[in-house]
This record gives sequence, C-alpha cells and structure tokens, in this order.
Amino acid sequence: MTVDEKTSLNEWLSGMLPEAMGWLQEMVGINSFTTNRAGVDRVGAITAKCFSELGFSPEFVPSEDPNHGDHLFLSCGNPELRPVILVTHLDTVFSPEEEKKNAFHWLEAPLEGRIYGPGTVDIKGGTILIWMLLRALQKARPEVFEQHHWLVAANASEEVIGAEFGRRTAERAIGGARAVLVFEGGPREGDDFHVVTARKGRALYRLHAEGRSAHAGSAHAAGANAIVTLAGAVQAAARVTDYAKDLTVNVGSIGGGSVVNRVPQEAWADLEMRAFSPEILEAARCQIEALAAAPASPSEARILVNCTGTSPAWPASSSALELLQHWRAAATALGIKIKNVSRGGLSDANYLCTLGPTLDGLGPSGANAHCSERTDDGIKVPEYVEPGSFAPKVALNLLAVCRMLSVEDGHPL
Ligand SMILES: [Zn+2]
Repeated sequence: MTVDEKTSLNEWLSGMLPEAMGWLQEMVGINSFTTNRAGVDRVGAITAKCFSELGFSPEFVPSEDPNHGDHLFLSCGNPELRPVILVTHLDTVFSPEEEKKNAFHWLEAPLEGRIYGPGTVDIKGGTILIWMLLRALQKARPEVFEQHHWLVAANASEEVIGAEFGRRTAERAIGGARAVLVFEGGPREGDDFHVVTARKGRALYRLHAEGRSAHAGSAHAAGANAIVTLAGAVQAAARVTDYAKDLTVNVGSIGGGSVVNRVPQEAWADLEMRAFSPEILEAARCQIEALAAAPASPSEARILVNCTGTSPAWPASSSALELLQHWRAAATALGIKIKNVSRGGLSDANYLCTLGPTLDGLGPSGANAHCSERTDDGIKVPEYVEPGSFAPKVALNLLAVCRMLSVEDGHPL
C-alpha cells in the first residue's frame, strides 16, 4: 500500500469513530456484571441493535445458569458455509456496588489518549471493533462480505469461565469454523501489537486434610494435626511448579482448625495449576492427585485430593501460525508490527480453538482490565481503552481477513 492509501484508509476508518464510540458509551453505561442478568441482557439487546443495520439477525440463547443472561449469536451471509466466528462477551467483572463505590464509569481523557470505564477494553471495545470491521468490510469489499458466513458470538458469562458457551457455539458451526477470531484486548508493546496464538489450560484442586482432634494441653499425643500434615502436602504441591515447562501450581487459599488449644482435625487448601501443553498439564495433575494419602503414622492426617474444575489448554499449533501469516502480511502492508504472544490467562479461545484455526487479542489496545480503583497519586488507575488504536486494529484485521479468505478461496490478492 502507498502512503496515500494507508492515510486514506486510516482517515476513512477514523471517520467511523464518533458513531462507534457512541455505541461503546451506551454499552459501558450499562452494568453487566456476570450475575446482573437484566444488565447483561440489555447489553445483548443493544449489541443486536447495533449489528442489525449491517444485516445481522440475532439469536438469544438462554444460559443454563438462571443467574446469567442470554448468550447472543448474530449471523449474516451464507449459512451453508463454515462461518468466520468473531468472539466477544457481554459480561464484566464489576458489580453495580463496586462501580458506585469507586465512581467507575465512562470517562474520556483525550490528553491521555484513553477512555476509562467498566468493560472498555474487556471486552465491549472488542465488540465495537468487530462492528467497525464488518462495516468496513461491507463497504470496502462487499463481494467478500456477501460470499461468506459471519457469526458474531457473544458469551453472557465469559468472566466465570465454563464450557457451556463453547458447546452453544459449536452447535452453530457443525462443520467447524473457517477461523475463530477472539477480540480480547490487544496490548501494544512499543510499536508492536500483540496477537495471541496459545493460552494455558487450567485445573483446580482442593486438598483436604482429615486429622483427629485432641486437647492441646492434656492429650496432645492423641491428636493428628491436620494443619501440619496439610502443610507438607502444600509444599509438595508447590514443588510441582516447573517454569522451564511453563507449568505453574499456585496454592491460592488455605484454612483449618478452630481454636488454638485444640489439635486441629481439619484443614484445606485450594490450588490451581496451568500449562500450555495438555500432556504437561495431565502429568502434573497426576502428581497432585498422588498427594492423596492415608496417614503414615498415628500423628498424621489423611490427605484427600479433589479436582474442582478444569479448562482445556489452547496449545500452540501450526494452524494458528498459518493463520497468523495473514496478519503478518497485513501488518507489513500497513507498515505496523505485530508480535506473536502466548498468554497464561484463559479466554473463550480455550473452548473454541477446536472449531478451527484461532487467533486472540484482536481487540483494541488498553490496560488494567478487572481494575476499578483510582488513587490520587495516580499509582492505581482503572480499566481503559485507547480510542486511537481502533482504526489501526480495524485496518489490520480487515486486510488480514480479506487476505485469508481470498487466498483460501484461490483468489490471492
Ligand atoms: Zn475479563
């Protein structure tokens, strides 16, 4: 692309910003904490309205959990074809009380190049970026838009991590997806935009020690101290961490006993473990499960180990790297840089990556997701999005998606 072409593309996309930011402000103004069902549904309704002008039909799918709102699927194009799935979510981690307590709401800070507010980058800004992308595609390459199948998939409860939305999405992409594009925030490192190609999987466990209580003064030897035995198991669990394998075990909370003059009969600890490789995660799970043990002596407690949840890994794959080549080519054409990164945090990509080649982090730049506090000294600031990142990220995704579809359809650009 010539400098003039790049400038006019950027100006054209920037011209959409006032309308796009208007939609974003409307979405951010509605509290959509995961369990605020009415709020999540209102954000779903506004999202459906915003995409209806592009010709997308909404489908609201109730969540299994009655405390959660409806998932939203918006589709357009040829339903016979495998869809390009564009993934976002409707919920945030902020309760109405927290937003009120921290006076956390839409706040434009043009001198900082930021807009603060709940969900601005995680992920309502991502929803708006999808809207800008599809609108730009419709106008710039109507034939590409019309010849394919587009499915915008918006999870009602992404922030509580579960498999349900993945199942609902898979039901709408029976033959798989052309691509799964996730619009979580895409930070910038210097001039480089991050694109995510892998995420760790996770397993959660509770370690439970069952000892025997006794009077700490008169019958100490008759007891089996659950806290002491659990402490050994906690140390052993922590030693499973292996940074060289990108494997972490984090004991995150612990409790036990009741009063100090009694040998404690019960104690527990909750831990989570993460790894990119499903095999490494599985091997580590076996090590944690092997901590279950009968008492080795009368003074020891029994250790029980229970798995309390799992999320699959999105491992590094050649299909994601092939997809990334289109983003690299688009970045080169635009004179911008992208950086391939792997993340430890979970997203819908963990559950949707089996549907087709997947990329994440395609949303706008911003930071401090899940933070609502601001301190006078400026050390803590809440979540924000950078409005200046929308036009370049739309341009990047627009060129990359056109390239991906044209190359795969045998009409290389
Ligand atoms: Zn989040």
